Amino acid sequence: MSIVMLKDVKKSFDKLQVLKGVSFSVEPGEVMALIGASGSGKSTALRCIDRLELIDSGEIVVCGHRVNDPKLDLRKLRLDVGIVFQSYNLFPHLTIEENITLAPRSVKKISRDRAREIALESLAKVGLSEKAQNYPEQLSGGQQQRAAIARSLAMEPKVMLFDEVTSALDPKLTGEVLKVIEALAASGITMIMVTHEMNFARRIADQVIFMHQGYVHESGSTDILTSPRTPELREFIGDEL
Ligand code: ADP
Ligand code: MG
Repeated sequence: MSIVMLKDVKKSFDKLQVLKGVSFSVEPGEVMALIGASGSGKSTALRCIDRLELIDSGEIVVCGHRVNDPKLDLRKLRLDVGIVFQSYNLFPHLTIEENITLAPRSVKKISRDRAREIALESLAKVGLSEKAQNYPEQLSGGQQQRAAIARSLAMEPKVMLFDEVTSALDPKLTGEVLKVIEALAASGITMIMVTHEMNFARRIADQVIFMHQGYVHESGSTDILTSPRTPELREFIGDEL
Protein backbone atom coordinates (compact mmCIF):
# COMPACT_ATOMS: atom_id res chain seq x y z
CA MET A 1 0.00 0.00 0.00
CA SER A 2 1.17 3.52 -0.81
CA ILE A 3 2.36 5.70 2.07
CA VAL A 4 0.77 8.77 0.49
CA MET A 5 -1.96 8.70 -2.14
CA LEU A 6 -3.75 11.67 -3.68
CA LYS A 7 -6.59 11.03 -6.10
CA ASP A 8 -8.17 13.82 -8.12
CA VAL A 9 -7.67 16.34 -5.31
CA LYS A 10 -9.28 19.74 -5.81
CA LYS A 11 -8.80 22.70 -3.57
CA SER A 12 -9.82 26.33 -3.93
CA PHE A 13 -9.20 29.43 -1.88
CA ASP A 14 -12.31 31.51 -2.49
CA LYS A 15 -12.56 31.74 -6.27
CA LEU A 16 -9.00 30.65 -6.94
CA GLN A 17 -8.70 26.95 -7.73
CA VAL A 18 -5.19 26.01 -6.63
CA LEU A 19 -5.37 22.22 -7.03
CA LYS A 20 -7.37 21.20 -10.09
CA GLY A 21 -7.44 17.43 -9.78
CA VAL A 22 -4.05 16.33 -8.45
CA SER A 23 -3.19 12.64 -8.28
CA PHE A 24 0.05 10.97 -7.26
CA SER A 25 1.31 8.34 -4.88
CA VAL A 26 4.46 7.67 -2.91
CA GLU A 27 5.53 4.14 -2.04
CA PRO A 28 7.39 3.06 1.11
CA GLY A 29 11.01 4.20 1.04
CA GLU A 30 10.48 6.36 -1.99
CA VAL A 31 11.83 9.90 -2.35
CA MET A 32 9.58 12.17 -4.34
CA ALA A 33 10.65 15.56 -5.61
CA LEU A 34 7.77 17.99 -6.08
CA ILE A 35 8.79 20.76 -8.40
CA GLY A 36 7.13 23.63 -10.22
CA ALA A 37 6.97 27.39 -10.47
CA SER A 38 5.97 29.53 -7.54
CA GLY A 39 2.18 29.48 -7.18
CA SER A 40 1.71 26.13 -8.93
CA GLY A 41 0.21 24.56 -5.78
CA LYS A 42 3.13 22.60 -4.29
CA SER A 43 2.83 23.90 -0.72
CA THR A 44 -0.93 23.57 -0.78
CA ALA A 45 -0.60 19.92 -1.85
CA LEU A 46 1.80 19.23 1.05
CA ARG A 47 -0.42 21.06 3.51
CA CYS A 48 -3.42 19.00 2.40
CA ILE A 49 -1.47 15.80 3.08
CA ASP A 50 -1.01 16.82 6.73
CA ARG A 51 -4.56 18.24 6.82
CA LEU A 52 -3.33 21.73 7.47
CA GLU A 53 -5.77 22.51 4.65
CA LEU A 54 -9.05 20.75 3.93
CA ILE A 55 -9.74 19.66 0.38
CA ASP A 56 -12.90 20.33 -1.62
CA SER A 57 -13.05 16.96 -3.36
CA GLY A 58 -10.99 13.92 -4.20
CA GLU A 59 -9.25 11.57 -1.84
CA ILE A 60 -6.07 11.58 0.23
CA VAL A 61 -4.86 8.51 2.11
CA VAL A 62 -1.71 8.81 4.24
CA CYS A 63 -0.34 5.77 6.09
CA GLY A 64 -3.81 4.26 5.99
CA HIS A 65 -5.52 7.43 7.32
CA ARG A 66 -8.29 8.79 5.14
CA VAL A 67 -7.31 12.41 5.52
CA ASN A 68 -10.64 13.93 4.44
CA ASP A 69 -12.78 11.56 6.49
CA PRO A 70 -14.69 13.56 9.15
CA LYS A 71 -13.88 10.75 11.59
CA LEU A 72 -10.11 11.07 11.00
CA ASP A 73 -8.00 10.86 14.15
CA LEU A 74 -5.92 13.97 13.46
CA ARG A 75 -3.49 13.14 16.24
CA LYS A 76 -2.65 9.77 14.70
CA LEU A 77 -2.20 11.33 11.26
CA ARG A 78 0.17 13.94 12.66
CA LEU A 79 2.17 11.23 14.47
CA ASP A 80 2.82 9.56 11.13
CA VAL A 81 3.69 12.71 9.19
CA GLY A 82 6.68 14.96 9.82
CA ILE A 83 6.71 18.31 8.09
CA VAL A 84 9.55 20.81 7.85
CA PHE A 85 9.07 24.27 6.39
CA GLN A 86 11.33 26.99 5.10
CA SER A 87 11.08 28.74 8.49
CA TYR A 88 12.39 26.62 11.34
CA ASN A 89 10.04 27.78 14.10
CA LEU A 90 12.27 26.64 16.95
CA PHE A 91 11.28 27.99 20.37
CA PRO A 92 13.90 30.67 21.16
CA HIS A 93 13.69 30.24 24.94
CA LEU A 94 14.35 26.48 24.84
CA THR A 95 17.63 24.71 24.16
CA ILE A 96 17.91 22.60 21.03
CA GLU A 97 17.48 19.46 23.11
CA GLU A 98 14.40 20.89 24.84
CA ASN A 99 12.96 21.91 21.48
CA ILE A 100 13.35 18.33 20.30
CA THR A 101 12.09 16.52 23.41
CA LEU A 102 8.98 18.70 23.77
CA ALA A 103 6.68 16.85 21.37
CA PRO A 104 7.85 13.29 22.16
CA ARG A 105 7.23 13.99 25.85
CA SER A 106 3.94 15.89 25.60
CA VAL A 107 2.35 14.15 22.61
CA LYS A 108 3.80 10.64 22.87
CA LYS A 109 4.18 10.66 26.68
CA ILE A 110 7.73 9.37 26.42
CA SER A 111 9.84 9.56 29.59
CA ARG A 112 12.33 12.37 30.00
CA ASP A 113 15.32 10.04 29.75
CA ARG A 114 14.08 8.18 26.70
CA ALA A 115 13.10 11.46 25.00
CA ARG A 116 16.59 12.75 25.63
CA GLU A 117 18.12 9.61 24.09
CA ILE A 118 15.92 10.01 21.02
CA ALA A 119 16.82 13.71 20.79
CA LEU A 120 20.52 12.89 20.85
CA GLU A 121 20.07 10.19 18.22
CA SER A 122 18.18 12.64 16.02
CA LEU A 123 20.80 15.32 16.50
CA ALA A 124 23.51 12.83 15.54
CA LYS A 125 21.64 12.12 12.30
CA VAL A 126 21.80 15.79 11.36
CA GLY A 127 25.39 16.27 12.58
CA LEU A 128 24.52 18.50 15.53
CA SER A 129 25.32 16.35 18.55
CA GLU A 130 27.45 19.07 20.09
CA LYS A 131 24.66 21.69 19.95
CA ALA A 132 22.12 19.99 22.23
CA GLN A 133 22.58 22.50 25.03
CA ASN A 134 22.71 25.61 22.85
CA TYR A 135 19.84 27.98 22.16
CA PRO A 136 18.55 28.47 18.60
CA GLU A 137 20.01 31.97 18.29
CA GLN A 138 23.47 30.50 18.90
CA LEU A 139 23.16 28.40 15.73
CA SER A 140 23.56 29.38 12.09
CA GLY A 141 20.52 29.27 9.82
CA GLY A 142 21.64 25.95 8.38
CA GLN A 143 22.16 24.49 11.84
CA GLN A 144 18.73 25.73 12.96
CA GLN A 145 17.15 24.09 9.94
CA ARG A 146 18.99 20.84 10.72
CA ALA A 147 17.75 21.10 14.33
CA ALA A 148 14.21 21.52 12.97
CA ILE A 149 14.69 18.37 10.90
CA ALA A 150 15.98 16.55 14.01
CA ARG A 151 12.92 17.70 15.93
CA SER A 152 10.71 16.19 13.27
CA LEU A 153 12.74 12.95 13.14
CA ALA A 154 12.46 12.54 16.92
CA MET A 155 8.75 11.86 16.45
CA GLU A 156 9.72 8.91 14.24
CA PRO A 157 7.29 9.77 11.44
CA LYS A 158 6.52 7.31 8.65
CA VAL A 159 6.79 10.03 6.02
CA MET A 160 8.64 13.34 5.97
CA LEU A 161 7.46 16.36 4.01
CA PHE A 162 10.01 19.07 3.24
CA ASP A 163 8.81 22.38 1.83
CA GLU A 164 11.66 24.37 0.32
CA VAL A 165 13.69 23.91 3.47
CA THR A 166 16.78 25.52 1.97
CA SER A 167 15.31 28.53 0.22
CA ALA A 168 16.05 30.92 3.10
CA LEU A 169 19.70 29.79 3.28
CA ASP A 170 22.79 30.92 1.45
CA PRO A 171 24.53 28.36 -0.80
CA LYS A 172 27.03 27.13 1.77
CA LEU A 173 24.38 26.49 4.41
CA THR A 174 22.09 25.00 1.79
CA GLY A 175 24.71 22.36 1.05
CA GLU A 176 24.91 21.17 4.65
CA VAL A 177 21.12 20.83 4.91
CA LEU A 178 20.88 18.99 1.59
CA LYS A 179 23.56 16.59 2.79
CA VAL A 180 21.41 15.75 5.81
CA ILE A 181 18.34 15.15 3.65
CA GLU A 182 20.38 13.01 1.30
CA ALA A 183 21.53 10.85 4.22
CA LEU A 184 17.94 10.48 5.41
CA ALA A 185 16.88 9.47 1.92
CA ALA A 186 19.64 6.86 1.86
CA SER A 187 18.47 5.54 5.22
CA GLY A 188 15.14 4.64 3.61
CA ILE A 189 12.80 7.29 5.01
CA THR A 190 9.83 7.95 2.75
CA MET A 191 9.79 11.60 1.77
CA ILE A 192 8.23 14.25 -0.38
CA MET A 193 10.39 17.27 -0.90
CA VAL A 194 9.43 20.48 -2.57
CA THR A 195 12.68 21.85 -3.92
CA HIS A 196 14.20 24.21 -6.43
CA GLU A 197 17.52 22.39 -6.23
CA MET A 198 17.34 20.52 -9.53
CA ASN A 199 20.73 18.84 -9.26
CA PHE A 200 19.83 17.65 -5.81
CA ALA A 201 16.48 16.28 -7.01
CA ARG A 202 18.24 14.56 -9.88
CA ARG A 203 20.61 12.88 -7.44
CA ILE A 204 18.23 11.59 -4.78
CA ALA A 205 14.67 11.44 -6.13
CA ASP A 206 13.02 8.20 -7.20
CA GLN A 207 10.06 10.04 -8.62
CA VAL A 208 9.57 13.58 -9.88
CA ILE A 209 6.23 15.38 -10.02
CA PHE A 210 6.14 18.65 -11.95
CA MET A 211 3.19 20.85 -11.03
CA HIS A 212 2.00 23.58 -13.32
CA GLN A 213 -1.00 25.81 -12.64
CA GLY A 214 -2.62 23.38 -10.22
CA TYR A 215 -2.12 20.22 -12.26
CA VAL A 216 0.46 17.46 -12.32
CA HIS A 217 1.76 18.46 -15.71
CA GLU A 218 4.51 15.88 -16.04
CA SER A 219 5.80 13.06 -13.85
CA GLY A 220 8.25 10.22 -14.00
CA SER A 221 11.75 9.25 -13.00
CA THR A 222 14.54 11.84 -12.77
CA ASP A 223 14.93 11.31 -16.52
CA ILE A 224 12.26 13.97 -17.03
CA LEU A 225 14.66 16.51 -15.51
CA THR A 226 17.17 15.73 -18.23
CA SER A 227 14.72 15.09 -21.06
CA PRO A 228 11.48 16.95 -20.32
CA ARG A 229 8.59 15.99 -22.57
CA THR A 230 6.56 19.18 -22.20
CA PRO A 231 7.58 22.74 -23.12
CA GLU A 232 6.43 23.90 -19.66
CA LEU A 233 8.86 21.62 -17.82
CA ARG A 234 11.61 22.43 -20.30
CA GLU A 235 11.11 26.11 -19.61
CA PHE A 236 10.93 25.59 -15.85
CA ILE A 237 14.18 23.63 -15.78
CA GLY A 238 15.82 26.21 -17.99
CA ASP A 239 14.88 28.89 -15.47
CA GLU A 240 16.22 26.87 -12.55
CA LEU A 241 19.61 26.09 -14.04
P1 ADP B 1 3.67 26.98 -4.42
O1 ADP B 1 4.04 26.33 -3.12
O2 ADP B 1 3.77 26.06 -5.59
O3 ADP B 1 4.41 28.26 -4.65
P2 ADP B 1 1.12 27.48 -3.14
O4 ADP B 1 0.48 26.17 -2.93
O5 ADP B 1 1.76 28.13 -1.97
O6 ADP B 1 2.12 27.37 -4.37
O7 ADP B 1 0.06 28.51 -3.70
C1 ADP B 1 -0.72 28.28 -4.83
C2 ADP B 1 -1.70 29.42 -4.98
O8 ADP B 1 -2.60 29.43 -3.90
C3 ADP B 1 -1.04 30.81 -4.99
O9 ADP B 1 -1.72 31.61 -5.92
C4 ADP B 1 -1.28 31.29 -3.58
O10 ADP B 1 -1.33 32.69 -3.54
C5 ADP B 1 -2.61 30.67 -3.24
N1 ADP B 1 -2.77 30.42 -1.80
C6 ADP B 1 -2.03 29.59 -1.07
N2 ADP B 1 -2.45 29.55 0.22
C7 ADP B 1 -3.50 30.39 0.28
C8 ADP B 1 -4.42 30.79 1.32
N3 ADP B 1 -4.30 30.30 2.56
N4 ADP B 1 -5.38 31.68 1.01
C9 ADP B 1 -5.52 32.16 -0.24
N5 ADP B 1 -4.71 31.83 -1.27
C10 ADP B 1 -3.72 30.96 -1.02
MG1 MG C 1 5.41 26.87 -1.68
